[in-house]
Amino acid sequence: MPEGPEIRIAADKIEKAICPYPTTEIFFAFEHLKPFEADLTGCRVTQVETRGKAMLTHFDNGLSVYSHNQLYGKWMVRKAHDLPETNRQLRFAIHNAKKSALLYSASDIQILSEPEIEAHPFLSKLGLDVLSSNLEPKQLQASLKSKKHCRRRLATLYLDQHFLAGIGNYLRSEILFVARLNPQRRPADCTDDQLLTLAEASISVADQSYRHRGITNDLALASRLKAGGDRYRDYRYWVFGRDQKPCYVCSTPIVKEMVSNRRIYYCPYCQPCL
Ligand SMILES: [Zn+2]
Repeated sequence: MPEGPEIRIAADKIEKAICPYPTTEIFFAFEHLKPFEADLTGCRVTQVETRGKAMLTHFDNGLSVYSHNQLYGKWMVRKAHDLPETNRQLRFAIHNAKKSALLYSASDIQILSEPEIEAHPFLSKLGLDVLSSNLEPKQLQASLKSKKHCRRRLATLYLDQHFLAGIGNYLRSEILFVARLNPQRRPADCTDDQLLTLAEASISVADQSYRHRGITNDLALASRLKAGGDRYRDYRYWVFGRDQKPCYVCSTPIVKEMVSNRRIYYCPYCQPCL
């Protein structure tokens, strides 16, 4: 599933292609959304907002399209009406004179007014947004220390969108490695300094992934590995997907475990149990 950084990168591409010109055609695959095609045609898209892994495409007539890619959804930006050959099903399309933004395979698409956004059952329960430019480490540290979160294992807390929106499987492993915390620990087992380091790592790792096309590894190290012939998937991460390979810091083999049915990776030396 794409995580917060990938969704934000998709939103940036859509904004760049779609915001400059009024829409010339809107397409919805779902029958109950068809009546809105005419309402949104001739409008401008003012902003493509992301909240965690959800996207809100805001139109200047006050309506917004909520979409969540879940596992299979995929956005593509193309020249206007230049649809790719694909077996995927087109579910939502925004066309203007120059470009088309196409959402394939997603099933969770809704039209919302402003009050409906505020009352939305998924959006209203989201936690702090890991990619929000307003998010301060102290705020996240306080959330980690809160009664609601402090006794949960970091491995489960760091997949919970109600705790931190936009977080997902690779970010979970990478953030806990950068903070040098074992996935089995709970915030209650950590010192204030460790929790502040974790909060800072959460924000910086997600932000770096967004700005550097998904690379969460040290950027200088990633460059060296790339120059040495490593493939993107091999130099991209500190630990994620690196089962049994040597840790880049201490050379201990990286361990893979399953937590909540999702794979997690960590270094047993850099991230000791206690
Ligand atoms: Zn290590």
